[in-house]
Order: sequence, then structure tokens, then C-alpha cells
Amino acid sequence: MNPTRIELQLWGVRGSIPTPAPENLGFGGNTTCLELRLPSGEVLVIDGGTGARKLGLSLLDRSQGRSLNLNVLMTHFHWDHIQGIPFFAPLYSPANRVTFHSTRRPEDVKDILEGQMTHPYFPVQFELLAAHREFHHLSAGPVELGGARVRTFPLHHPQGATGFRVEANGAVVVHACDHEHGEPRFDEGLLEHAMDADILIFDAQFTPEEYRSKRGWGHSTWLEATRVARAARVKKLLLFHHDPSHTDDQLRAIAEDAAKEFAAVEVAREGSSFTL
Ligand SMILES: [Zn+2]
Ligand SMILES: [Zn+2]
Repeated sequence: MNPTRIELQLWGVRGSIPTPAPENLGFGGNTTCLELRLPSGEVLVIDGGTGARKLGLSLLDRSQGRSLNLNVLMTHFHWDHIQGIPFFAPLYSPANRVTFHSTRRPEDVKDILEGQMTHPYFPVQFELLAAHREFHHLSAGPVELGGARVRTFPLHHPQGATGFRVEANGAVVVHACDHEHGEPRFDEGLLEHAMDADILIFDAQFTPEEYRSKRGWGHSTWLEATRVARAARVKKLLLFHHDPSHTDDQLRAIAEDAAKEFAAVEVAREGSSFTL
């Protein structure tokens, strides 16, 4: 039997803007936020979209009053990746420590996260939050966080985004979102970092048909995702960062189409979890 190595839980899988509408709640309406529970017992969070609200509540519930030491990896700072941070409950307790990791300069990250909570956007200013907050610059790595090894790689996206390869006890999770395929210098680095991953989480915002009129928007397709998954010999592919316009029915159709290209594919669903 495989020992538990990394547990991945998806708290938000939608791209661009939350979609709390009945026709897409099957896969979920919250924007991107993932939790990796590491073998060490520590938690690594990827992004703070609106899914971070429920993650924060769950973390507090599970902590049973103990202080939390959380590492948050930030892909980039578009709204759909930061909008849950003001509602991330662990930030409101002085006992907790939250470290934001980014390939941007730490002082810039602090300014950006403070910026979305300044007057008149939000009633509580970021610098007044009770938790101990730190900002850490991530290089290409590897760096050790909570007992996991984290490597970064650049993605092709307006204003830039960062991909992550996280390894712990032989389990490998690769997060490649937000990303538009087609620029060799980005695609090659992504492929190299995705090799032999247990799970590849890939930006599949568009169908190939939609992509024809969405070039330059910074997102990829389910078809490209299957190509990378095959070339990188990953064990499982998660199609992620769903377009706000995609209903549950459309996402089920995408899952069927994608499975013809790469059998071990799933459309990411809010709330689902995976043990690697
Ligand atoms: Zn996004
Ligand atoms: Zn983006």
C-alpha cells in the first residue's frame, strides 16, 4: 500500500471571476485556491482566490485552537487569485503566521496585497490584520517549505505568472496556471518541470474553438493540456481555471473530449481531493 504522501484539495477551480450560478455549481463557482497537506503535517496553499474563504474556515476548524503556520504560493496577482485573501480567516488571529511566497519582490507583494484592501475597497486594512505576515522571494529553487521541495518556472501570461513543482516523499504535484501555450521558451520550461508528475494542474480555460478568438488572453485549452500531459508522462491531468461561461454540461462534454486524448484526465471540481 502506498503511504500517504501529499493530499491535494481543491477549494476553487474557476478562472477570471466567481460564478455562483446554478448551472455551474456542479464543478464550482469559486476562483482558484488549492491546499496541499504535506507528509510533515504542514499546509501549503496555492493562490488566494475566493475559494480561500472556505479553506480558511476549514483550517481554523481543523487546528482546534492551535496556532497555524501557513505558506501561500502566489502564481500572480490577478483578481481571481487574490480576492479571497481579505476573507482568509487565519489572517485575523495574532497566533497565526502566514508567509506569502512569490517570484516578485517581497516589498511589491506586500504593496499589492495591501493595495486591494486600502480605503475605499475594504473596511480592514491589510497592515492591521492580526496574524504575523511575511513575504518571501522565490527563486527557481528548489526551496524547502514545510518539508516539501518547491521549484518555480515562468508561465506565459499577461504581466507574468509562476508555475510550481512541489515534491514530497516522492509525490509530485505540478501547478501550471495561468498559462497560454505557444511560446517555446515557456512551453519548454513547463514541460521539463511537469515530467513524471503524479498530478498536473493545467490552465484549460478555453476549448480549442474558443481559443481561436482568444489568442493573447493568457490561457490555454484542454487539448493543449492533454498534449503536455502525454509528453510529460504525468499520471493524472486536472483541467483547471474554468471559463466563467462554461456550465456543468459543457465541462462534462470537455471531460469526454479530453479523455479521448489522454485517459487519465479529470475536470477539476471544487471540493474534490486527491491522495498522491
Ligand atoms: Zn486566473
Ligand atoms: Zn491571470
